Order: sequence, then C-alpha cells, then structure tokens
Amino acid sequence: MRFSSGFSRSARARAVAVPVSDHGRAEEARLQLLERIGEFVTRHDLAVTAPNMATICGALSGSQPELAGALVQREASGEPIDQRWLDMLARMDPDGHSRLAALETLSDKLEYALTHFAETAREAQTETSDHRGAIGEQIAALAGPEGLAQVLELSRAMMLRIEQIEAAMARSEAELERLRDSLAKARIEADVDHLTRLPNRRAFERRLVSAAMQARERGEPLALAFCDVDHFKQINDRHGHAAGDRVLCALAASLSEAAGESCFVARHGGEEFVLLFAGLDKEAAKVRLDAIRRAQAARQLMNRDTGQPFGRITFSAGVAEVTEDADTRSALARADAALYRAKLEGRNRVELG
Ligand code: GH3
Ligand code: MG
Ligand code: MG
Repeated sequence: MRFSSGFSRSARARAVAVPVSDHGRAEEARLQLLERIGEFVTRHDLAVTAPNMATICGALSGSQPELAGALVQREASGEPIDQRWLDMLARMDPDGHSRLAALETLSDKLEYALTHFAETAREAQTETSDHRGAIGEQIAALAGPEGLAQVLELSRAMMLRIEQIEAAMARSEAELERLRDSLAKARIEADVDHLTRLPNRRAFERRLVSAAMQARERGEPLALAFCDVDHFKQINDRHGHAAGDRVLCALAASLSEAAGESCFVARHGGEEFVLLFAGLDKEAAKVRLDAIRRAQAARQLMNRDTGQPFGRITFSAGVAEVTEDADTRSALARADAALYRAKLEGRNRVELG
C-alpha cells in the first residue's frame, strides 16, 4: 500500500485556508487532536518517537485517509495495535518516495542526454553532407587558381567543424555512459536495504508478483514466510541501537545463507524478514524454515564491543502458500496472522497460515 502525497497536500491547503474568525475553533480542534494522540499512545502503550507521532497523527487527524482506514480496520479486527503493527504502517516508506524521485531525475537527465546526442549526431550528418555538397560544387566549378584557393579554404573550415563535432559527440557519449551507470546503480540501490544489504520490501513485493505468476504458469507451489525476531527490543535496550543493528545484519546474513540459492530472502522492515520458497508448498516450507530456526536458536552471538553475549536470538514465523488462491495479498495476510499466532503461542516457532 502506498500513500498518495495528494492527501497531505490537500490537508495542508485546508489548514492554510482556515479564516481568522475560525481561529478559536481551529485551536480547539488542535487541542482535541493532541488529547486523542496522547490517549491513543497511552492506551496502546506505544513509544513517543517521531515516526510513531507522524503515523498516529496522520491516522487520527485524517490527513492520511489510508492510515485512518487501516486503523479502523485494525480496531475492528481486535488484533493488537502495537509497535510492530505501527512500524508496518510507518514503513509505507517515505524513503521510497525520495529514491523514486532520484530515479526519475536521473531518467530525465538520461533522456535529455540521449536527445542531445541524437541532435548532435543529426547536426554532424547534415553539416558534413552540406560541406561535401559544397566541395563537390567547387570542384565542378574549378576553373582557375582562385577556385582552388576557395576549395582549400572550404576544406580547412570543414575539417575544423568536423573535429568540433567529433569532440562534442565524444563528450555526449561519455556523459551518456556516466548517466547510464548512475541509473543502473540507482535502480539497484532502490531495491536494497541499506542496513543489511538484503533486498528490501519494494524488491520483495515485485518478486512476489513475478514468482506467483511463474508458479501459476508452471503449476508449481509457492510459499512465503514472515520471520520476526523475538524480543528484539530487549537487544536494543540492553546493548544499544548500534549493537541491535549489527545483530540484524548478522541475522540477515545467516538467514540468506541458510535459506540457500532457491529461496528469496528480503528485509521487510524493522526486525522482520520475508522469505519466498519457490516450488515448495507451505508444509515443505515450514520444514525448511523450522530447520533454519533451530540452527539460529542454537547459535550464540557476541557483542564484540563489550564481549557480552547477546544470548539466544530466536525468531517466530508464519508461513502461507501463495498459490492457494488468486490473490497474493491474502497470502501475506495469512502469513502475518500465522506469525501473530506463533508469537502468542510462545515465540521461537513456525506456524502455518
Ligand atoms: P516480539 O517478540 O513481540 O516481536 O518483540 P519485539 O521486541 O521484537 O517487538 P517490538 O515490535 O516490540 O520491537 C521491535 C523493535 O525493533 C523496536 C524497534 O526499535 C526495533 N527496530 C526496528 N528496526 C530496527 C533497526 O533497524 N535497528 C535496530 N537496532 N532496531 C530496530
Ligand atoms: Mg516486528
Ligand atoms: Mg520482534
């Protein structure tokens, strides 16, 4: 789900349009909103952080209708409104927008360079053929010594112009090459999680769609799993956020190594990873993931800064079969619900959705 910036723009426009005489009412609404945000944070025992405030305010003020809608749905479902769910909402990824904007700018530049290059090439062709024509005419008219001098003059001018055009073309080509390179790098970067270097959620969502299509065409099963680190907040609380980051990197590396070539592993966000098992039904995927989970739980990680052990780092997971029905979103929801069950039933386990 992506949020359209159009909503916040119109909300800002409304805010600006409040007439001075309505100031009292606007002030009252502002206080009420603050009160509702405070009550919401307390009721759900949420941390007062800038990202949390942005998400909650977007949902409660109505300035982000999709957030408000998601909140109503969540409340109606009776599932918990906790940090995990809030992180999921917040991961509607404002970064993604700026990365996309950067890509668009690069694409525009590339297009401009291509157009410029084509124009230079066209210009070069016209000019050289004009010169060729002029020389031809002069040769035809070669009658006396002044005719020869004119041809020589024209040839010199032509050589100079051709050299200039060649240099311009070489510059355009180099510029084009540089832009192509940046564009390719930006495209790769937009799909990579900056911390763990695993594919990110955006890459996963695209892979899910293509893998589901391929599985259906081949008549093969496809399973997906959400894995969420257990009590990860405690790692941050006890060892600090930087150590937490290192644990996430180590986990990412061992997950993708253990999962193997045929399994696509991505960081879905926060301390949550997602795996795609091509060719496996959900029971087979559960067996594979259980083995990975057991191996992970048996491992001891050390905080290299302090020499203190991190203790056992386990994860819980929910597995669902994408090919069970036509809608990939339903598989995501089933895996998410199964993960929630795995947490409720004691963590460090894999549940089927
Ligand atoms: P549970 O077993 O229920 O999943 O408990 P938990 O503590 O893992 O879950 P909770 O959702 O309460 O907390 C997740 C924590 O993960 C909170 C958040 O600050 C932390 N976190 C999310 N992303 C990152 C990150 O990139 N780096 C670090 N260090 N911490 C992160
Ligand atoms: Mg989580
Ligand atoms: Mg967790």
